[in-house]
Amino acid sequence: MSQALSIGRFAPSPSGPLHFGSLLAAVASFLQAKHQGGKWLVRIEDIDPPREVAGASDTILQQLEHHGLLWDDTVIYQSNQLAHYFEILDHLKDQHLIYPCGCTRQRLNTLNGVYDAKCHTLNLSDENTSIRLSVNDSLKTIGLENDTVTFNDGIMGNYFQSLNQDAGDFVLRRRDGLISYQLAVVIDDHLQGITEIVRGADLLDSSPRQILLQQCLGYKTPYYAHIPLAVNNLGQKLSKQHHAKQLPKKNEQEQLWLALKWLQQKPPMELRKSPVEEVIKWGITHWDISKISGNTTEIIAPENLK
Ligand code: GLU
Repeated sequence: MSQALSIGRFAPSPSGPLHFGSLLAAVASFLQAKHQGGKWLVRIEDIDPPREVAGASDTILQQLEHHGLLWDDTVIYQSNQLAHYFEILDHLKDQHLIYPCGCTRQRLNTLNGVYDAKCHTLNLSDENTSIRLSVNDSLKTIGLENDTVTFNDGIMGNYFQSLNQDAGDFVLRRRDGLISYQLAVVIDDHLQGITEIVRGADLLDSSPRQILLQQCLGYKTPYYAHIPLAVNNLGQKLSKQHHAKQLPKKNEQEQLWLALKWLQQKPPMELRKSPVEEVIKWGITHWDISKISGNTTEIIAPENLK
């Protein structure tokens, strides 16, 4: 019997150009799929216009190309998929799994990130409210008695989370009408047939919520692997907010080499000056995700080591 095709993806939000941290996720997801002879897709997660930076999507795609990270199939833009997300939301409504929430930001701020389901029984109208998934109703529908989701992460090992204690009823559509990351990501990973999700460890604790949604919608759960986060020397995640530097527009092969080194693949020294295509080829042949240690959730990015 032939093995199913492995399909990986990189799903950047266009909130700025790629930095070393996002390159790690791109390289790791690419090599994980390509090493298995699979496909690698790119999806631009542009459903949060307030966080979007003009031109960032194009810049990200150019940066990927310059690093030899060439995607298969057409790039998907989430902003083109909105009708579909709303359809799925209606479906969840028909199943009585979601409800409108009118709680103010001030009230939510007092709850330490875990919503207490205050609006669950209030029957509020859909207008000027956010829409939340009821964790308990979902668990009942899929026939689970307890609220602990467990999965075996390819890098971090066994991971579990109590949905009630650690997540609570979470938002699928925001009060401003925007669809949440959690809903869009689950729908698109399913539509694109993604079998392997390799991404940064900052999203590890989102996975149980995504697995719950997959089960509510009858979708398959993909393989997950979360790579340690690149941080600066203050221990802050490399992000625009913490002024992570955009990847330099030169020596792309060196950035790739550094990414391989930081992903604990031990690339040979002489590869550091080889053309991009050769570094990529070496990576595809030698990729071994089990070399990445999940003992640490953080690694200092090279640009911060000086
Ligand atoms: N769009 C998310 C980000 O840029 C990543 C989503 C994912 O990989 O699931 O952080």
